[in-house]
Amino acid sequence: MAGRSAVDRILKGPILDGWHDRAACANKPTSWFYADIKDDNNQITPIARKALVQCFACPVRRHCLTHAITYPERWGIWGGVTEHQRRRIRSAMLAGDITPAQAIEAAVDVGNETGDKLGLRRRRTA
Ligand code: SF4
Repeated sequence: MAGRSAVDRILKGPILDGWHDRAACANKPTSWFYADIKDDNNQITPIARKALVQCFACPVRRHCLTHAITYPERWGIWGGVTEHQRRRIRSAMLAGDITPAQAIEAAVDVGNETGDKLGLRRRRTA
């Protein structure tokens, strides 16, 4: 539809319908996604790693991040991106430094960097 932003298309378009049903975390413990991210040695905790493994294997990671950035989801790991990382991106978006579509791409990139650092294999995301 003419005039709809990229974010609107992702959020309202048919491709978004039912994305929760395709989530890799659908049958996983929610607690994995709200656990402490790092330990006292600044290393990713085993439980947070479990959540991140799901996110990088998830076919709807981009939709998840679109939701998490724009809704916004304030807590937990969404799309392989921590709340702290999302907060920084949202701050830039709310300050007008980047558009919502750029914020989503930034979140995808930040997540990709995390996945690469941890050596987690990334699945293509819709
Ligand atoms: S990206 Fe992660 S948090 Fe989002 S739906 Fe997929 S597995 Fe769940």
